[in-house]
Amino acid sequence: MKSSLLPGSAAGLPYQRLTINPSLSNNRSTVALSIPDQSPMERFSKHHLNVTQLCEQSWCEIKVVYGFLKPHMKRREMRRTAVMTGASIHLARELEANPDAVNVVVHTREDREALKLINLIQMVPALEAGMVVLISHLRFPVLGVLDGVFFLGVVDELYCSKSGELVLSELKTRSHNSLPHPAQAKGHSLQVGVYKLLFDSMVQGSMKRDQLLHYLKLRPHQAFGSELQSYAQKLGLLAVTFGELVDHLLVVLHFCNLQPIDKLCLEYRHQSSGVLIGNREVEFKETQLRAELRDYLAFWRGEREPHGVDIEDIEEAWKCRMCPYEESCEWRRSRLQEVMVEGSKKAKLDGSKSETPNSSRRVPN
Ligand code: SF4
Repeated sequence: MKSSLLPGSAAGLPYQRLTINPSLSNNRSTVALSIPDQSPMERFSKHHLNVTQLCEQSWCEIKVVYGFLKPHMKRREMRRTAVMTGASIHLARELEANPDAVNVVVHTREDREALKLINLIQMVPALEAGMVVLISHLRFPVLGVLDGVFFLGVVDELYCSKSGELVLSELKTRSHNSLPHPAQAKGHSLQVGVYKLLFDSMVQGSMKRDQLLHYLKLRPHQAFGSELQSYAQKLGLLAVTFGELVDHLLVVLHFCNLQPIDKLCLEYRHQSSGVLIGNREVEFKETQLRAELRDYLAFWRGEREPHGVDIEDIEEAWKCRMCPYEESCEWRRSRLQEVMVEGSKKAKLDGSKSETPNSSRRVPN
């Protein structure tokens, strides 16, 4: 087993390729869902993970793998009306909260990441003052290393409640006008829990300059593009390179008075009408969350095979019916065949039992 790409991660354990019975393949080409000696991080050239990727993983790991192997299908799924409507509700909320938002042209990856950090730097005093902060996709990252893996995430909303609690709230849109089933809400709870882990470690000063540059593969001496330089100057920031901005951010986080997040909330809205369906508070169970995280990361490190949906579990099996890979999914086909084989074995066993003469049975004369 090659060592993981992730410094600090545990050495991966060997695992076997998911084998599919050739008789099941129905002449379709089988896809290697996992490859021995290559972790998904290596195979899919990932240096860090987005928190949303973890949520997709909690839905179905095989679907995550297909997302990399069949990117055109993933793109098609992302263009679905439901996804686009959800994005527009997010955008409308963001514009409502930030009517003076400006567009800044970015030229390099360093520019793009710097823009996120600039907005983070701007947000800290607003939060310290107890203001509501609504954050857009590119503007406010939570980032850091969890269990040896670098994560990036974007929080929807942070605010101080009337009682002074720091609340993190995530907006979710739904096609049905009802709160989600627990299986659907699992990923949402995971998402806000991981955001809290990242945010808390940031304000507690755990972020390291070298980690940030290393995992994001960014050049510290790269000067900002002219538009970004003017934008930073207008805000009173003296940094002109990415490294200088990171140094500034670390100072801001070190001296800020922000406390860890007190409360995690999920807000559900109807996709087509935008009407509020309901709110849910998420209990933060750190030990359990970290254990779950370790298990999810074991997949990325190649320490175990990917797991798909349990097709015999009524609470889970419906996920496959909504999945764009359902027709070609090797995992599903293999599990269906196993269920059929087990079913026919059981039927044979039941049949032979019913044919066995019962010694205690009274035989009529
Ligand atoms: S069909 Fe089911 S098991 Fe296969 S990728 Fe989709 S959700 Fe996962």
